[in-house]
Amino acid sequence: MVLQNNLSEKTLKSPRTYYHNSAKRPFAVQELGYNADFSVAIIGGGLTGLGAALALAESGVNVCLLEANEIGYGASGRNGGLVCSGYRHDQKWFEEKIGVTAAHDLWNIAEAAKKSLHSLMAKYEIDADYKSGLVFAAHRPTLLEWLKEDAEFMVAQYNYNKFEILDKDECAKALGSDVYYGGIKDNGAGKIHPLKLLYGIASAAIKNGAKIYENTRVLSVDGDIIKTTNGQIKADKILLCGDGYIEGINKKTDAKIMPIGNFVIATEPLGDDILPNASGGMDTRFVVNYFHKTFDNRLLFGGGEKYSDAMPKDIAGFVRNNLVKIYPQLAETKIDFAWGGRVGITPTRLPFVNKIGKNTFISAGYSGQGVLLAPFFGRILGMALLGDDKYFNSLSALKIPDFPGGRLLRFPLLTAALSYYSVLDKLP
Ligand SMILES: Cc1cc2nc3c(=O)[nH]c(=O)nc-3n(C[C@H](O)[C@H](O)[C@H](O)COP(=O)(O)OP(=O)(O)OC[C@H]3O[C@@H](n4cnc5c(N)ncnc54)[C@H](O)[C@@H]3O)c2cc1C
Repeated sequence: MVLQNNLSEKTLKSPRTYYHNSAKRPFAVQELGYNADFSVAIIGGGLTGLGAALALAESGVNVCLLEANEIGYGASGRNGGLVCSGYRHDQKWFEEKIGVTAAHDLWNIAEAAKKSLHSLMAKYEIDADYKSGLVFAAHRPTLLEWLKEDAEFMVAQYNYNKFEILDKDECAKALGSDVYYGGIKDNGAGKIHPLKLLYGIASAAIKNGAKIYENTRVLSVDGDIIKTTNGQIKADKILLCGDGYIEGINKKTDAKIMPIGNFVIATEPLGDDILPNASGGMDTRFVVNYFHKTFDNRLLFGGGEKYSDAMPKDIAGFVRNNLVKIYPQLAETKIDFAWGGRVGITPTRLPFVNKIGKNTFISAGYSGQGVLLAPFFGRILGMALLGDDKYFNSLSALKIPDFPGGRLLRFPLLTAALSYYSVLDKLP
């Protein structure tokens, strides 16, 4: 079967984020039009999809990846670049909800993700500006106590000794902001240029034989038949890796993954007084403020959420309101880039990794922690197809409920619930 596709570099829909302006695609566009039968087809060209593509291509599997826009168009090319340890909940929460053994399994998977990230960057010589030292800062005194207890718990129960406890002064010296009551610095976490990472993984996948087809939106999946805007292909196994961007392809995915709008700015290049002793930071608010310093000395700052598809008219102004609460000295600083993206969340904020049909698998819903997890969880899907399903089994055992309200009501219900919690952030 020959499919028509007239792609060229110029037809790719590159969004204007700081990342897209500071990373160079090291490979050319591939044309869909030959070999339309695949062993595995991956839907979605973010860190999850590319992680899966690389793992499968390394083992010689005939794999293709279908991306509606250009790779890195979704959250993977738009995020805050923070490489966080663990998941959206602390390990004590996991122990209470799923038991001590399962909680340890999950932590070990997230630590394996770190190992995998660093060995991937070393093996394929990916320079993605990684720097360690991420501060988790308390916006209330009680939350500093919680952070300290968590750090002590992690040493005692998980042998994780990479946290440094920071008092108010030390936290101010690390961040260049004195608004927090203190914090913990995680030297096992850090920041990265996520799009350089993604391009590096994509290059490696292509070199290993993966086919990557951009501007190719999947319209439907029926058994092993995948209909796309560029024609129809066949695949024995299908991996759904569209996170907060995929809709209308699979009912289970739509019921469990919900997109939330989140917004980021990058300032003009700054001096050394912002983040002098940390690579990045985030705070304890429900609607988290997060920030890191880029390789060219800009402050990349994210904060503010929208629980609908509507973008703020003035993203830079919307995020600057939060920025000046943390860095009042930047009130007049020029903002060079402002953008938004969709974070895929689940009702419990646990990732949704499972088999959702005879030949269909999913990994999504990292709920704001996907920079580290996504490439490895993609790899985990790939490994499961290759017969190594240890990690996949631990993750697929997590119970992920549907969002209440079905497709029509979930947005209003979620908006009401999340708006309530974001109001709590504003209380003293
Ligand atoms: C503003 C923002 C800030 C964030 N900050 C952080 C952070 O600092 N640290 C952190 O750990 N995480 C962060 N995240 C979350 C993190 O970026 C995501 O968890 C991760 O990138 C998800 O990767 P993914 O590959 O699963 O999905 P995505 O990167 O979203 O990729 C999905 C892709 O699927 C494609 N797609 C969808 N439907 C179709 C279809 N029908 N056919 C073909 N292609 C399709 C989309 O075009 C998209 O490119 C942030 C997210 C956002 C939006």
